[in-house]
Amino acid sequence: MFDVVIIGQGLAGLLTAIRAKQENKRVAVIAEGTGKIMQSTGFMDLIPSSSQNLDESKHLFLQKNISEELIDQSVEWFKALMNEINLPYEGSVHFLSPVVTGAGYVKNTALYPTTVRPIPNKGDILIVGLNGIIDFQPTYVKENLMKERPDLNVSTVTVDFFKGSGRVLSQVDAARAMDDKQVRARFITSLKNEMRTKEIATPDLMIFPSCLGMVNHKDVIEDLNDSIGPVTEAPGLPPNAAAIRLHDALHHYAVKKGVRFYEDETVFHAKVYDGVVTEVLTGNQTKPQAIKLKQLVVASGGILGGGLEQVSTGLSDRTLSLPITSEGTLVDPINNIFYIGSSSKMPWSETWISGGIYTISSSYSVPFTSMDEKNKRRDEKCYINQA
Ligand SMILES: Cc1cc2nc3c(=O)[nH]c(=O)nc-3n(C[C@H](O)[C@H](O)[C@H](O)COP(=O)(O)OP(=O)(O)OC[C@H]3O[C@@H](n4cnc5c(N)ncnc54)[C@H](O)[C@@H]3O)c2cc1C
Repeated sequence: MFDVVIIGQGLAGLLTAIRAKQENKRVAVIAEGTGKIMQSTGFMDLIPSSSQNLDESKHLFLQKNISEELIDQSVEWFKALMNEINLPYEGSVHFLSPVVTGAGYVKNTALYPTTVRPIPNKGDILIVGLNGIIDFQPTYVKENLMKERPDLNVSTVTVDFFKGSGRVLSQVDAARAMDDKQVRARFITSLKNEMRTKEIATPDLMIFPSCLGMVNHKDVIEDLNDSIGPVTEAPGLPPNAAAIRLHDALHHYAVKKGVRFYEDETVFHAKVYDGVVTEVLTGNQTKPQAIKLKQLVVASGGILGGGLEQVSTGLSDRTLSLPITSEGTLVDPINNIFYIGSSSKMPWSETWISGGIYTISSSYSVPFTSMDEKNKRRDEKCYINQA
């Protein structure tokens, strides 16, 4: 029997598992995949595809019972957690920061990892490509960046990396290689040579694809910073290092803290007794495995995460097999089931994209302690009934 069972290991599921562990709960995560976190930029957006700050958008969060105070507390909690797991985040929900993406577009985000720096309005920028990485093209990035920031003075270089490897590299391949001190020393020498040949002076900021180390990112940034100048990653198409770092760091930490993971498992049914969910079923209909629980957190990502399906008759709940509303939540709410992250529809998105900040704050809003009291009373009632 687990105190808390979480369905899904996207950002919502992983954060909730860690929080539940901090509350000393017995926690299990059941997930059939890794979630959108792997395909994200690693930025925590307030309202995805919008530049609204919290003052302009807090009424939308309130529709989901998330207050400004709760958002502030959850962001502080998230930042403290990320510091502890050696992947610090900066930024604010009150003043969004302009960051550059792997396509050269500038977007305003709330929180960003410290491998990223906000993009200035003026100054000298050098966009650094790596031979072999085809999903980050410096000239294309420059073209888009110049449209967004016409006052920047932008140069580009492409540096040989893994010369002769004979295959296309992903940003994650390059990030893993950058972890090695000797490899990055060679890279820095090549970059300096390239800059000298093209007569490029030390820029105010260098923009890289998201490849600045997988685990030794602090060292990579420090080495580049000390030998040339300030750097930023521009996360774009998956797989990029910013997203994988985030997932791996949260997953490793959750495992280290004792969260039990049932991976590659699909939940297809929930058993409800006396208005309370008591177990979920995974595996298949003919040979299901029952996992008993006191509290269930649905972090199944809704339509995009696979927890819900759009069928001819409307939305279908392929996770709990219970009647659901057009928002994806239960027609008859159940006391010990909580929906977080993209598992239910957002007032700001027809596409079910919730964004990092809502995901963090909805995870943070799950009330473990009070549920325990309710469950204790339920257990006592069951015990009395059985007796
Ligand atoms: C491609 C893409 C990129 C994005 N990038 C960003 C970004 O850069 N910044 C940002 O702020 N927001 C981004 N978003 C928004 C995103 O919606 C949220 O920020 C957040 O990542 C959603 O997390 P989640 O945990 O709620 O859902 P998901 O990440 O979708 O996770 C759902 C989890 O539930 C599992 N699951 C589903 N059904 C079942 C089942 N029946 N049994 C077991 N497991 C199940 C899935 O396999 C997965 O593990 C992006 C969205 C998309 C689609």
